Amino acid sequence: MSQQPPAPADSVGEFLHEFLLDPARHSPDAPAVVESAQPGHPLTTTYAELGALVDVYAAGLDALGIETGARVILESDTTAHALALLLACSRAGLTFIPVSPEMPHPRLLSIVATARPALHLQPPDGTRTDLPHTVGTARFGPTGLTIERAPERHTPRRRVPCATDPAYIIFTSGTTGRPKGVVMSHRAVIAFYRGMLAHRIATPEDRIASTSPLHFDFSLLNIGLALGSGASVVPVPQDLVRWPRHLLRVLRETGATQVNGVPSIWRQTLRYEPERLAALDRLRGILFCGEEFPLPELRRLQQLRPDARIINCYGATESMACSFKDVPNPLPDTVERLSIGIAHPGAEILLVDETGNVVTEPGVLGEIHLRSPALFSGYWDDPAATRSALVPDPLCPQSGQLVLRTGDLAVRREDGEFAFCGRTDSQVQINGNRVELGEVARRLTDFPGATAATAMVLPRPDGGVRLTAFVVLAADQAGTDPAELRDFCARTLPAYMAPQDIELLDRLPTTANGKVDRALLADMAGADRPGAAPAGPLDRVRRPTPEK
Ligand code: ADP
Repeated sequence: MSQQPPAPADSVGEFLHEFLLDPARHSPDAPAVVESAQPGHPLTTTYAELGALVDVYAAGLDALGIETGARVILESDTTAHALALLLACSRAGLTFIPVSPEMPHPRLLSIVATARPALHLQPPDGTRTDLPHTVGTARFGPTGLTIERAPERHTPRRRVPCATDPAYIIFTSGTTGRPKGVVMSHRAVIAFYRGMLAHRIATPEDRIASTSPLHFDFSLLNIGLALGSGASVVPVPQDLVRWPRHLLRVLRETGATQVNGVPSIWRQTLRYEPERLAALDRLRGILFCGEEFPLPELRRLQQLRPDARIINCYGATESMACSFKDVPNPLPDTVERLSIGIAHPGAEILLVDETGNVVTEPGVLGEIHLRSPALFSGYWDDPAATRSALVPDPLCPQSGQLVLRTGDLAVRREDGEFAFCGRTDSQVQINGNRVELGEVARRLTDFPGATAATAMVLPRPDGGVRLTAFVVLAADQAGTDPAELRDFCARTLPAYMAPQDIELLDRLPTTANGKVDRALLADMAGADRPGAAPAGPLDRVRRPTPEK
């Protein structure tokens, strides 16, 4: 935008758009986005074309006279146009809030009420209507913005954008609580991108398939990895990610060399299309993030892709992520917990015990605290939640430095790397015994034919709790009797760790971000009790998946 001084010619920039459009200066004709618009016809947008579209959108936003720093909701799948628009928001000094078209209307309205955006943007085929009149509305297409309702004008307090200004706000589903708006500054996200790029995950020749919805910051990680490396992003349409044949077709037709997503994107493909997965000839990298990869599925993936570089990326929205660790391929049989490595350059993982002391000895459990220049600024309009996540640096509280308290548990290994050990709230007490739910799940996946499992404690009507497990078996084990699993647990786990209820499922239900939907599983288990209405989504995961 006009007030922002142009970046010096040799700088890659302090703002999102400057950083990510840098390749446009060096290799304008290289592909920036490769989309699978129609079967058989991938559509390529070069860096020069992307940059030109950013110019058009930024001019359109500027013309609206919205105050610098105002919020703009960007409701879209990941597309070349959406990518140009989020870069245009950055150039125009506006904060974007990515939202998926699938987002239920009440949830969108609650984000609108909380974030008070000036503008809502969607593509020409977007179906969102009925937004409050305080919000301007517009469409974005190949030729620019079409304004439907002009945003309200406020007394302008326009100022020069600053690198500590919010670049975006992601409203997380909140694995453990209510939705929170994670505010990320340009400076933080670029610090993260620089740390990530130091791992040399991609080259300009790579085509990086992004399977996460735009509202999940994993998609912004993928965009940063691709454009920051001068490579291309391959957005996989959300309605195709769940369907193995469609997913594999998109990967084949777009020539994807790397696929990034949560572990669950592989579950159905491993089950129903292993040969087609093995036959993808350009795929050489896989990066996963967001939750633990069930080890039987990870090992199967490695068998099918023995040459693939598989990277375990760990972290939370509050710092986009924080570590990258190559998984040994093949993973030795003795490995029970994956290493998450160490924090990216410029950041540091600390472990803190229950008494607040920093743990340095190997093998001792502690809560991950992250010291990093890539930390979020705070939760939008929620100072109490911010104070509980951004806490004084336990190494030197006097310094005023804040660190991220993650709620995740880990141990330091002898080699200095960290092994993820679940969340603080995944440790529960059962009859006075401390039980790590992740360990129960891991044991269940030792059962022959089990590919994934999750465990949780659910309340009993008498005030006690029941340890309940959900297990997915390989397709050829579908006839297994749950009693066999119960016997297996009785033989391999202490009695207090053996689940009282075991449910066999065709797959684990997932959240909008693709992670295991534990809340839904809990509801499902509750709905199974006598007298309760059956839960609709349960039927979906119990039925064999139809091929599409
Ligand atoms: P949400 O809270 O909506 O699920 P996040 O993506 O921020 O959103 O979740 C971050 C959490 O996901 C981390 O704190 C951690 O518990 C888990 N997580 C992320 N990456 C990994 C990983 N590679 N291995 C295990 N757990 C992970």
